[in-house]
Amino acid sequence: MTAIATLGSHCALQVLKGAKDEGIKTILVCEKKREKLYKRFPFIDELILVDSFVEVLDQKCQQTLEQNDSVLIPHGTLIAQMSSEQIESIKTPIFGNKWILRWEADREKKEQLMREANLPMPRPVLNPNEISNLVIVKRQGAAGGKGYFMATSEEDYNTKRNELILQGIISKDESLYIQEYAAGVLAYLQFFYSPLKEELEFFGADQRHESDIEGLARIPSEQQLKNKKVPSFNVIGNSPLVLRESLLDEVYTMGDNFVEAAKKRVAPGMNGPFCIEGVYDENAKFTSFEFSARIVAGTNIYMDGSPYYSLLYNEPMSMGKRIAREIKNAKEANQLDKITT
Ligand code: AMP
Repeated sequence: MTAIATLGSHCALQVLKGAKDEGIKTILVCEKKREKLYKRFPFIDELILVDSFVEVLDQKCQQTLEQNDSVLIPHGTLIAQMSSEQIESIKTPIFGNKWILRWEADREKKEQLMREANLPMPRPVLNPNEISNLVIVKRQGAAGGKGYFMATSEEDYNTKRNELILQGIISKDESLYIQEYAAGVLAYLQFFYSPLKEELEFFGADQRHESDIEGLARIPSEQQLKNKKVPSFNVIGNSPLVLRESLLDEVYTMGDNFVEAAKKRVAPGMNGPFCIEGVYDENAKFTSFEFSARIVAGTNIYMDGSPYYSLLYNEPMSMGKRIAREIKNAKEANQLDKITT
């Protein structure tokens, strides 16, 4: 029987609980320093203890995963801690499309795919000397918002960049990505595409709480001006969001377009969970600054099922359980190759 494995961080608890609920063996690749934490959860059948997650590439780890006929569920930690080459070299079958993770990690590729999917995006700013409006400056990869900053001019950009280099938060030769700042209500739209059913499901929406940009709203502007620290966008947690029902049609269209674009650009397409991230402005127009081509940690808020999944499933269905259900269905139909890469 197949086992479900993942790295011990991000959304591992949800993924493994979902697998257990579906009657599937669970394996956690766990850093030794977190062994005590994860041992608290009875639904984790086996721990593979490692000093660092890159050991998932070692023969020893891959052998254990292979012996258990495992499917590895990728999440943000895998992308943040490994290069695209390393991820692509993993021999254990990866749920979804491991090739599309490179498109998530690389800003240029990301923009290409989003354009192909017709997602309205903030204007990219190619050179700091072209900064005329408020912009956000980002790092490559799934940095989780750490080291991001806002700027209103080239001078402002240079001052803040230098300060972050001095603090050791970004490196001197790191290429930064500049994009117009889009103001509005943040919304992270979570989907699941099943290649077995050839159907797109909208799972839910969440908001991220990012420090310390979010804390600024609690500080009067005079004090903000005296504080010279560059605010960051480090994700601390997530909370649920339910959208106006009149927005749902467009949400599905964006999801469908993204699945179509991924099919064209990066075979076998956008299989499994993904997320389109952006803001709604005052006219309820969505601008998307990002996508994640795998499960996002924002789904953790719906471990007992989301509002939208309660409309589709007559049982509590988390994203972790949905993934496990897909693996179970594929296994029964002898179609595991359709849902893994
Ligand atoms: P990202 O890594 O692109 O998901 O960005 C991290 C965080 O930065 C997001 O969760 C937003 O809070 C913020 N952000 C990113 N891009 C933009 C943008 N173009 N306009 C406004 N906020 C943004």
